[in-house]
This record gives sequence, C-alpha cells and structure tokens, in this order.
Amino acid sequence: MDLRFGDSKPTDEERDAVDALLGPPESAWEGADDRSDADLRWARGGRAARDRRDLLLPGLHALNDRVGWISEGGLDYLCRRLTVPPAEAYGVATFYSMFSLKPRERTVVRVCTDLACAVRGAVPSAERGGAVAGVTVEDSPCLGLCERAPAVLTIRAGAPGAPPRTPNRRSAPRPQAPDGLSPAHPAPAEISARPAFEDEAEGRRGEAVPQAGDPALILLRRVGVVDPASLDDYRAHGGYTALRRAFALGPAAVIREVTDAGLVGRGGAAFPTGRKWQATAAQPDHPHYLVCNADESEPGTFKDRVLMEGDPYALVESMTIAAYAVGARHGYLYLRGEYPRARRTLEHAIGEARARGLLGEDILGQGFSFDIEIRRGAGAYICGEETALFNSIEGYRGEPRSKPPFPVEKGLFGKPTAENNVETLVNVLPVLTLGAAAYAAIGTPKSTGPKLFCVSGAVSRPGLYELPFGATLGDLLGLAGTPDTLRAILLGGAAGGFVRPDELDIPLTFEGTREAGTTLGSGVVLAIDDSVPLPRLLLRVAEFFRDESCGQCVPCRVGTVRQEEALHRIADRRGAAAAADIALLRDVGRAMRDASICGLGQAAWNAVESAIDRLGAYA
Ligand code: SF4
Repeated sequence: MDLRFGDSKPTDEERDAVDALLGPPESAWEGADDRSDADLRWARGGRAARDRRDLLLPGLHALNDRVGWISEGGLDYLCRRLTVPPAEAYGVATFYSMFSLKPRERTVVRVCTDLACAVRGAVPSAERGGAVAGVTVEDSPCLGLCERAPAVLTIRAGAPGAPPRTPNRRSAPRPQAPDGLSPAHPAPAEISARPAFEDEAEGRRGEAVPQAGDPALILLRRVGVVDPASLDDYRAHGGYTALRRAFALGPAAVIREVTDAGLVGRGGAAFPTGRKWQATAAQPDHPHYLVCNADESEPGTFKDRVLMEGDPYALVESMTIAAYAVGARHGYLYLRGEYPRARRTLEHAIGEARARGLLGEDILGQGFSFDIEIRRGAGAYICGEETALFNSIEGYRGEPRSKPPFPVEKGLFGKPTAENNVETLVNVLPVLTLGAAAYAAIGTPKSTGPKLFCVSGAVSRPGLYELPFGATLGDLLGLAGTPDTLRAILLGGAAGGFVRPDELDIPLTFEGTREAGTTLGSGVVLAIDDSVPLPRLLLRVAEFFRDESCGQCVPCRVGTVRQEEALHRIADRRGAAAAADIALLRDVGRAMRDASICGLGQAAWNAVESAIDRLGAYA
C-alpha cells in the first residue's frame, strides 16, 4: 500500500461508514466531491481536524465493520477527514490484529488457538486445513472465552441492521440478538462471539460462574442472578447504594475508605488504588480523566468479560464513584474488540443510566457531572498496558510510553488520569457498602478483600470463581475438580508461571505466591493434564509474545524471536541435547527482564523459565 495520499477513491460504502462517524465533510479539503467557491478562498480541516485524531481508531473500526477490511481508498478518505498522514494511519491500522488491509470475506471467523483452547483440543490453522467458501478463517490469540473452550469469534461486516450476506450455519452460525437487550446505539456491524456449537444466550445465564447464587459471594453475587439489561433489577439487588454513600462521604473520604480498605489493583501490578486516586485528585492540571481498562487480553483471563456481561451496572456505578473521587467528568471504557456481548450490555447500561440521571449532568442532584464513552480495542495485547492504552485511545500505535511521567500526572491526552481495571473498580462497591474495616477483614492483612480466579483447562467445572484472598490453590481446584492426570498449573497466564501438582498448598495471595516464587498475576489458573505436550504449550507462549511485542525496544523485539527459535529447536530434545539452547534461553530471558521498557518484555520469559526450573521441561 502506498504511504501517501494516492488516487484511490473510497467506495460509497466506505464513505458512508466514515461519514456516519464524523458527519458529512464540510468542504473539498475534507474529502467532499464538489469544490465550492469558499473552498477556493480558505483551507479547512487543519488543527480542528487534527484535534479529532482520537477518532482514528473508531474510524478504522467503522471501515472494517462495514466492509470487512480497510482499503487504500477508505483509509485515504479517513485520513483526509482527520488530517492524519496516511503513513501514520497505516502504522496504526496494521498494529491491530482485528483489522486487515488486504481484501477478505465479509464474514471472518477467528479461531482461538491459545493456551486454554489448546488444552481443550484447538489446533492452529496450519494443522486444521480446509477452507470454507465465503468465510475467512483466522487463528486468534485468546478470545477470553476460556471457560467454554474451544472458542471462536464470528465477525460479520455490513451496514447496521443489514442481513448477513454469507450465512454459513455450519462454520459461522448467524448471531442472534441477545434476549431482552435493546442497545442504546445500534451496532455498526453484526458481530458475535460464541463458544463453538453453543447458543449466545448461554453467556448471560451465569454458566461462567459455577458458584452463581451462593449468598457468600461479594463481587459475583449478582452475576447469573440479576437481569443485566434491567437497571431496576440492579437497584433491587443493592445497586447504587455505594454511590449514594460516596456522595454522603465526599471525594476525600471516599479515597480514604479505599485506602483504609487496602484495595490494590487486580490487573497484576497490585498498586494501591487509594494512592493512585489520591495522586490523581491532587493534580492541579485539569481536566482529570478516568480510564477503565477493560482490555483484558492475558491468555486464560475472562473475569472482566463475565462481570461486564453479567453485571454491567456495577461497572457503571463504580466508574462513577471513581470519577467522583478523582475529580473526572469524563471516563473512557477501553473494551477489548473481541468482547461484542460485553459491548452490547454496557452500551445498553450506559444509555439507561444516562436516561435515568445516573450519568450525565448533575447526577442524583448532587451537582456532579460525569459520562462514560466506550472505546473499542482491535486486538492488541499490549494495549492492556496503561500508557499503550492511552496511545491507542489518542489514535496512535498502542506502544507503551516511558515512565515517568506517570499517568496520574500526565496520562490520557497529557492530563492527570486514574486508570483501573474492571475487577479493581467493582471492588470499590463492597468497600463502600461494607465499610473499609469490614472489607479489610476479608482475606489477609496484606491481600485484602475477595479475589476472582479464572479457572480453565483440564478441570471438570471451569469458570470464574470468587474466594477470599488466602484460600489455597488446592481449595480453588477442589471446587473446579481436577483430573488424576494433572501435570501442571499455570498461574497468571502467559506472563505468569507454572507450578507442580504437589504445590497445591500455595496460598492465593500476592505475598504467598511471591514467597512461593510464582505470581498471582491477573488471576489465571489453567490446569494442564497429559493430553497436550508441554513443549507445544511453551511454543505457544513464545509465539504469543513474539506476535504481541510492539517492537519498540530491542531486548523484547529480538528476544521474543530468539526465544521462540530456541524453543522450536529443542521441541523434541531432552537433556544434553537441549542444554546449549536452554543456556541461551536463560541469557535472552535475563536480557529481556532487565532491559525491556514494559511488563510484556520483562515477563516474556517467566512461563518458560518456570517450566524448565519447576517442571523439569526438557530434562
Ligand atoms: S517491552 Fe516489548 S511490548 Fe514493551 S515496549 Fe518494549 S518492545 Fe514494546
């Protein structure tokens, strides 16, 4: 593709898709066909158009949703509308795995070949073979449907409401509208995600939560119990009690409660949430932003999806509380592109909350105004890193920024920003309804509160589990049911580490897993039996990091490639025959850990190292 404005024209469909997002062009400078007298006297676009750079990613989605891929003409038109150099837009579009700049079918089926699905029998396309007419089939990293693996995601391009052009019930069944949902904004294209051979509605009946209905649950107590489309049902089950208490306390006291409760981030870094909020609230620069990181992409993680699909108002309420505490009037919810159901439930919930005075101006008559905008990711694991996520929203490649400055000082659009993930935010509700002391009494002194665990792989009851911090790995796997052939457990996902079946007494706390030389990460617990060879899983981990490295720094860009090459070489070797490559892996792993800019490179060797040292892989 040419990297400057070319002569390619957008099709009517592409022009419609972009204009539906940006409005019709006001002048020939912005891509209108007819040049008016006014156009000859002054130029339009310029700075005002460039200020809309953050609409580049939604614009790329608009094109991809409508046509199924992004043509040169479509990209050029979008660039003219936003005054973005085509070379830069090309760099952004090619950053995301869900976009294609080559023609493909309107129906795309993405088949998950990641760890949890591999353990349940999914195989890469190179081994699958076979083509389906009218459908493009692609391999995909984890789709976040691990509890019902193996999984596929079907994306059908087209105009809103248009019937699908290429129905193929065998390989890509037509998506059904979710029961009882009437999205506030119609979806720009038909898009569905389903576990293979299952009905879409199953995702909303609580099957993902084997403990559903247990009165001891705190975070999951409404999932599978309330109607996620009903604000009244949410309120009948205690919804908006926490927000009322927050308004009664005031922002400073809310931050104090969160700090006293000992709440720390649940994404893996375990940073104290109260400290982050305090630092953001104290910044003199304005506006302040709140960003909800709903881009959970760690292989094996699906907790945020289950929360958003099953209890969407809880996220809306907790984001409102967080914004109130840090002084933000605008919140962005950055949602994984692979979560269409969550998008529909959240769009509906946000629309309802707005209509009922729970978002927008003067919420509950308290003089506080706040609204939430959903931004869709497009398939890039690295966008789960907070500064990469900011770049993605701003319309740039999702590459992590060097820190400092930290996001609380200069985050989204260079302004003070509090960024929290979904599980962290929904924990704020029990902090306020139970009170800080009662919340802190749950778990252990250093790991307070309840914790969600995504259990998948070789277990008889996979799903999302809630336990207080301090329960052991054995307690958790006892609930999920493990086979006699259990070979290993992967904690924390691809960036985590393996432990042995004789280590089930590891306490599931930040300090307990650290002491045991492993990590809790984002709460992934993937049970592995003998059915899949360990070297194959390690190769998948290495391939994942090689694919997902943003390429910005050398240790990670080169190291992830070298790691994969070495693992290929020793896939069938043991002992002395593998020793030289294992020594190389250790060197490369150390370099990545010491010198990479962000957590991806620093953690890319963790799982392989633990498999070698703990499980005796290749011995
Ligand atoms: S560590 Fe990897 S993902 Fe992170 S900035 Fe460097 S190249 Fe990019």
